[in-house]
Parts: sequence; structure tokens; C-alpha cells
Amino acid sequence: MIVVMSKDATPEDINRVADWLTAEGFRVHISSGVERTIIGVIGENTERAVGAATMPAVDQVVPVQRPYKLVGRDFHPDDSQIRVRDDVVFGGPRVIVMAGPCAVESREQVMEAAETVARLGLSVLRGGAYKPRTSPYSFQGLGLEGLKILAEARERYGLLIITEAVDEASLRHVAEWADIVQIGARNMQNFELLKRVGQVNRPVLLKRGLSATIDEWLMAAEYIAAHGNPNIILCERGIRTYETKTRNTLDLSAVPVVKQLSHLPVVIDPSHATGQWSWVAPMARAAVAAGADGLLIEAHPRPEEALSDGPQSLNLTRLAALIPSLRTVAEAVGRTL
Ligand code: PEP
Ligand code: MN
Repeated sequence: MIVVMSKDATPEDINRVADWLTAEGFRVHISSGVERTIIGVIGENTERAVGAATMPAVDQVVPVQRPYKLVGRDFHPDDSQIRVRDDVVFGGPRVIVMAGPCAVESREQVMEAAETVARLGLSVLRGGAYKPRTSPYSFQGLGLEGLKILAEARERYGLLIITEAVDEASLRHVAEWADIVQIGARNMQNFELLKRVGQVNRPVLLKRGLSATIDEWLMAAEYIAAHGNPNIILCERGIRTYETKTRNTLDLSAVPVVKQLSHLPVVIDPSHATGQWSWVAPMARAAVAAGADGLLIEAHPRPEEALSDGPQSLNLTRLAALIPSLRTVAEAVGRTL
């Protein structure tokens, strides 16, 4: 249920309703919009909240049909802006580009990539220290040592870092060392991990699962929000379809669809979506045109030597060449980059 307050409701009116709902055993989520305030009612048997309809300054009490309440637009009509360490905001006018290697392989590799990312005016460096690889014989990542390399690059180049946590143990380290915690496609429905991420005091980038519907993806985000962490950035990275020419199929329509259903920012990963470096630039530009709030792009100083995802990684010259065209598209749709 949501309680829609009337336009002229005072803070006292709002508190009275919130107090009553709390006394009835519900949790409340107050969203103060530009026009009016909406109180989300969370708990069991929320039909009982209809009683609020008789209270002063309550416009209406309406049932919420969608299963995702905290991340849905019904509860929170305005776009959420997710702020990372004060200076980078996802979901605002600026399109945020995150770039870097698939995996942290060495100090030199990360520093080279970081130098380019910083020189191009991008603010977030990506790099996996814990790698969820399809084969157990593939490079599994440098772990904690990789996180320390990323942290060194952050200090040296003034960047923020995003890196993936794959389980509870790695989450503890990632939350300590990184600025944004990435939850990968393979873990999107690892509900115990999502609950833990809810308890972490860091923004989280939640990738869409390989075969997840948009509803399942938003329910995964709901897990994180329901466990206490509202700072969620959604990332579409391609889904599995019958097409085999591309590694996955980029569902670009997820951008407007998710934006209609949810207030959370949405970013696109054109690298895992296509699996091929030469298709990354056109899809990155298309993503910005479609209204994505950011991009997550794999870039490596020497993709031919990469220990993971080399074929889809831009080399640093190609990354540099891409940025001006992204800026042009961003400006054409009323944004900056
Ligand atoms: C990655 O970002 O390197 C990664 C493993 O992505 P995904 O979870 O989308 O496969
Ligand atoms: Mn990768």
C-alpha cells in the first residue's frame, strides 16, 4: 500500500500518519517529492493500512501491484541520485563512464589503464580482483592483492574504483577497499549474498543475470534495498538469447523500461553484451542515446595479452577515441559526460 498525502499536507500531518502506521506494526518509507509526499507501507497484511484514508491530509491509500516496493516508482516517484564519495553522482545530468580491465592482472597493467582513464576525464576505474570464471581452470583473479593495486591507482590518479564481490568473504574486503561494490550477473540471484550487500555501507552496482527477466532483476535489487542499502545502480550487460553472433544480446530497451518501473539509475555494459571490441563503441553510443546513466567498459593496455575478456576489451587508444563521440551523443540528449 502507499499513502498519498494531499498537496498541502504539513510535516505534522505526515508524521501523524507515519506514527499511526508504525504503531500498527508496519515499516514506513517516506518519499518527499516535488509535488507531494508518498508514504510507502511495508510489512505483512498491508491492506490494514487503508485505515489511514480517514486521517487528515491523506489524499488516498492505494495498493501497490508491483512486488518491488522500495525500488519501484510507486513508492518513490522521483529519480534516485546515487552519490559516490561526494563527487560522482549516478542518475543526475552527467553520464558516468567506468572503464578499465576485466581483471586486475598486475600493478603495471592497472596503472597504465588508470592513467588513461584519468587523462580522459573519466572518474571511475573498473577491474576485477575476484573473477567468477565459467571454467575453474581460467584465471581466478588476484584477490586481496588486486584490491590493493586498485586502491593504489585510486590514490595516484584521483579515481573511484568499482570491483566485484563474489561471496561473503570477498564482500568484506571489497566493501573495505572499493568505492562501488559490483555484484555480477552470475550472482544476481544469490539471495544470501544480496542480503549481505544490503548491510554494506557502499553503493552497489547490480548486474542483470544472464537469463533474468526485468522483474527478477528488480526483485534482486529489492533484496538489497530491503536489507538496508538503497544505493543501487542497475547494470544491463546483455542477456542470453538464441543469437550466437554476439556473446549476449544487449537489451537496450531495458533502459526505458526500468526507468519507467524504478527510480534507480541504469547503466549499460556494452563489453559483456557484445563480446567483441569493435561492437562496443556503437552500442555505447546507443546506450547514451537511449538514456543510460552510465557505461561500464572493459579496456586493457594490451587486450591480446589479457587473462580474461581480451576480445571484448578496447585498447587504450580505442577507449580514448570513443569518448568524444560519447560526449557528442550525451549533449544531443541534453546530458553531459
Ligand atoms: C565483469 O564485469 O567482468 C563480469 C564478470 O561481468 P558479468 O557479471 O556481467 O559477466
Ligand atoms: Mn569481463
